[in-house]
Amino acid sequence: MTLTAEVAADAATAPAIATVRHVVKLRACVAEWRRDGLRIALVPTMGALHAGHLSLVSRAKEEADRVIATIFVNPRQFGPAEDFDRYPRQELSDAAKLAVAGTHLLFAPTVEEMYPEGFATTVRVTGITDSLCGPLRPGHFDGVATIVSKLLLQALPDVAVFGEKDYQQLLVIRRLARDLDIPVQIAGSPTVREADGLALSSRNAYLSPADRAKAPMLYKVLAEIAARLTRGEHAASALAWGQDRLRSAGFDRIDYLELRDAANLQPLEALTAPARILVAAFLGRTRLIDNIAVVPGVSE
Ligand code: AMP
Repeated sequence: MTLTAEVAADAATAPAIATVRHVVKLRACVAEWRRDGLRIALVPTMGALHAGHLSLVSRAKEEADRVIATIFVNPRQFGPAEDFDRYPRQELSDAAKLAVAGTHLLFAPTVEEMYPEGFATTVRVTGITDSLCGPLRPGHFDGVATIVSKLLLQALPDVAVFGEKDYQQLLVIRRLARDLDIPVQIAGSPTVREADGLALSSRNAYLSPADRAKAPMLYKVLAEIAARLTRGEHAASALAWGQDRLRSAGFDRIDYLELRDAANLQPLEALTAPARILVAAFLGRTRLIDNIAVVPGVSE
């Protein structure tokens, strides 16, 4: 059984989970837990949950006594030509999966609750967003930074858990929490993959069977580049090999395939510091992203 099928099978026999849609109710629940001296974790998502999301819940349970998951398909982080309208929405089965995973509360607000009439504030993180997905998806990280700031301030958890799958996003969130003095620990959790290496993503559902068969090459190429770098191959040559390999595997467009410093996403010409190889590439209309850690002497 694939990971995705296992999660769906568990969800079929799930207990219920308390769901709130308003910030006042979320805060009332958090206040009660605070009175009991409990430690609270937050796991923000856009729903269409898979085992990757549920791994964040598991991590959150290790970090705290109570876990709040959020589901909000945030219109502000989608560009006008992106998939906001067709993004999968399946709250009932998501709630069942969260219950099985031991989540204590689901916060699933409406767009009006999050962006009421007159809403006029944007949180923008500069620097980390200047390259990679930033310029290719204008406004995306502003939308992410704004909604995550709101969720953190609404729940005021002790810890919030995010996936390394969206590595640039993770660094953006760490930065905003520090810069805005939001008293929360930001935890990064490793990418969960299918057996063939493809990183789980809600958008994998868009892939045709033929493209799904090509998709695992993304991770294979990242792993091979990491191996080449640790063997001492020059970054430019290893990355050029990766570009060719992805093209010949049928990736239609490669937005980027780069070696970056893991701490600040500055470009690296050689493996001189703990690094990340990051990729974004299209199969048909579906844009896939992935990344892998690579440190001098050791690969992931
Ligand atoms: P999303 O619903 O796509 O906005 O993702 C919600 C959270 O789940 C983010 O912190 C993502 O980085 C994380 N996430 C998505 N896919 C994976 C995965 N395959 N493994 C681990 N975390 C993931």
